[in-house]
Amino acid sequence: MQCRCYCDGETNSNRHFLPGHDQIAVANAIAANYGSNEAFIRSQRGEAFDGPFGSPQVNRVIMENYESIEAFLDAEGY
Ligand SMILES: [Zn+2]
Repeated sequence: MQCRCYCDGETNSNRHFLPGHDQIAVANAIAANYGSNEAFIRSQRGEAFDGPFGSPQVNRVIMENYESIEAFLDAEGY
């Protein structure tokens, strides 16, 4: 199937992403809908959350609030 990050890559079997491309899709969805990792994390954790705002923190927030990366991307309309 086509890789869900829209890179035009073809995944084998029923995988949604080429290896590592789930993070590309997450970064694109956050950039489109929130503008930055910090804005996304603050939207989920509140203004008091004091960083850092890297990919590990983004992934942690996603897994706290969604069943999977795919569920997050569905929710974001990506
Ligand atoms: Zn891809």
